[in-house]
Amino acid sequence: MSASLSSRTRALLVGAAVALASLGAARVASAADPFTYDPPGQLVNGSGKGRVDMNVYAPGIRFPIESGPAFANSQVWGHGGNSGTGSQCDIENFSYPWHDNYCETRDWDMPLCPSGSGHQGQDIRAASCKPGVHQAVAVVDGTITSIGSYSVYLTAADGTRFDYLHEQDVVVKEGQKVKRGDPIGKVSNNFGDSVTTVHLHFNIHQNVAGVGAVYVPPYLSVIKAYETLEGIGVDAGAPEAAAPAPAPAPSATVQEAPVTAPEPPPNDAAPADASDGGCTLAFAGRDNTGTTTWFGAALALTALGIVAKRRRR
Ligand SMILES: [Zn+2]
Repeated sequence: MSASLSSRTRALLVGAAVALASLGAARVASAADPFTYDPPGQLVNGSGKGRVDMNVYAPGIRFPIESGPAFANSQVWGHGGNSGTGSQCDIENFSYPWHDNYCETRDWDMPLCPSGSGHQGQDIRAASCKPGVHQAVAVVDGTITSIGSYSVYLTAADGTRFDYLHEQDVVVKEGQKVKRGDPIGKVSNNFGDSVTTVHLHFNIHQNVAGVGAVYVPPYLSVIKAYETLEGIGVDAGAPEAAAPAPAPAPSATVQEAPVTAPEPPPNDAAPADASDGGCTLAFAGRDNTGTTTWFGAALALTALGIVAKRRRR
């Protein structure tokens, strides 16, 4: 009898461990882990052709999440994403190195991407995959210029616009002035009527000479902001920042813009409903409770297909 109880106990323990793992509670990367990132333009294999661009389009911005660690990578091609494997809470999503996913395959007009279309911004996961915990904050002083069903636009005095997608508990209102570091909302999986993985999709929209108002590569701007946040690198000036190894120097090659013929700004440059462009392919697999959500994902993809068609007009 005791052997039977023991095996049942073991089974329960194994079950509990599996449940914990699916909740992502087992581990997140520590701020002590050395920060590394893949070079700009290097996308996940099979997710498109990236833009190698060493320009920091928004120098000096604050990191868009209040505190680290945080992990820039692909939500669609990452674990738990529509084109990935496993669960969104898998440790691989919460580990360095970071990955650029600005030009990842999408239908959105992206004049600066080699294919002419792409993802628009950068997906960033916070320290854990729990929704509604990690605070997204203003990267600059500015004005909240639009709030959509799952997006918030913050526009700086110079016209550069920063888009925050998929938040919950948004605390700002359209027209509100905010200061750098002020709370915007909590990192979540909000996708309007559906859900995506828990992450912040972050865009930088800017006027580029000879091209027009476009989504520009946010990757290096976000890297610089993260290094400052975490006290890493030569600009941080923090003595305790000596330990982390600097990221590998990316290739110095700069791809001239635009790769394709110049196009007018995307139709969604200033939509009435500031809905996402970026995360067109939502996610499938498992949400953070470990429940399969294929049905939800199918609904989302159908709805997004409709939206994409409408917005391609
Ligand atoms: Zn995205």
